[in-house]
Amino acid sequence: MTIVRDIPWTFDESAFLRAASIDGSDELADEALRLARVAAPLLIPKAVYAEVEVERLGGPEEWDVVIGGVTFNSEILRCNLEGVERVYPYVTTCGAELEGFDLAAYDYLAFYWVDQIKQAALTQASAWVRGRIAEHVGSKKLATMNPGSGDADVWPIAQQVRLFELLDGATDEIGVTLTDSFLMVPNKTVSGVFFRSEVNYMNCKVCTRENCPNRRAPYDAALAHAGDGDEMCGAPLGGA
Ligand code: SF4
Repeated sequence: MTIVRDIPWTFDESAFLRAASIDGSDELADEALRLARVAAPLLIPKAVYAEVEVERLGGPEEWDVVIGGVTFNSEILRCNLEGVERVYPYVTTCGAELEGFDLAAYDYLAFYWVDQIKQAALTQASAWVRGRIAEHVGSKKLATMNPGSGDADVWPIAQQVRLFELLDGATDEIGVTLTDSFLMVPNKTVSGVFFRSEVNYMNCKVCTRENCPNRRAPYDAALAHAGDGDEMCGAPLGGA
């Protein structure tokens, strides 16, 4: 288990203003930057990740996958892990330092601006964690699946609980908790499993949501229904 409590990140004021849809000459820019210059330096992104063995890949009755002694049920996860020996469960967070940050002295948009700052920290931290794991694995052909991403039945969000169990309580050490509806706090936190993938798996490829502004790849029906054919999972999706 690896716990990193101080992932490096840099706050880019121009990128922040763009993300917040504020023109640099806009009078809001001064107010947004007044907040950001106080809030951003407080944030310290963190992560926990581990290397665990894939112990069992079940059949189409339950699509069960046993990883590090914990059982998950997901057809896409099951098919993605065909031929994969090890996976890398992780939770990466922007950090809890801005939870409860007092916004009373700022514009009413401050809540939204804080979210933009947190997102910037999370994006950089996620790339950092991915880089560390890719370096460890010795390959950039890493894909990730995340409970609750895309269509609800791809990897049901309730299985967040099992992912946290797999990380053996280390999420407490980075200040991340789960709500009763399986959402993570801080809100700018991402959880999932990295694995080797020769087909560049992305959640968007198995997500039917239309007009999503964040879509990164077109829907791929063959990938989404990999377990439906006569030959279970068709061609292997994952890699050694
Ligand atoms: S299409 Fe949108 S909702 Fe679906 S997985 Fe991609 S980013 Fe998420």
